[in-house]
Amino acid sequence: MATKIASTSSSPASGRSRRAPGSELSLAACPACGSLSLEAVERDWTGTWSGQSYSIPNLRFFECPSCGERIYSPEAMRRIQAASPAFRKPRLRRSA
Ligand SMILES: [Zn+2]
Repeated sequence: MATKIASTSSSPASGRSRRAPGSELSLAACPACGSLSLEAVERDWTGTWSGQSYSIPNLRFFECPSCGERIYSPEAMRRIQAASPAFRKPRLRRSA
């Protein structure tokens, strides 16, 4: 019973353009499964990129207890990007 019918989104996407940049993230439902019981957690976060693992202590993000989806606020994304090797700016300057 592995057949999974891709359900067309039943929720009408209305008023999606209202998003203040930099504002605190407020979520009503999990974007993956629609669960309404998102939990705001703060814990050490570990990610892997290209075989390299990196961790961020005390990262605050939302986690869906139903499907395990993680949702990050813009601030959390900044911290992740700052720590991730994928976003590390290469220092190739050699000349003085
Ligand atoms: Zn979910």
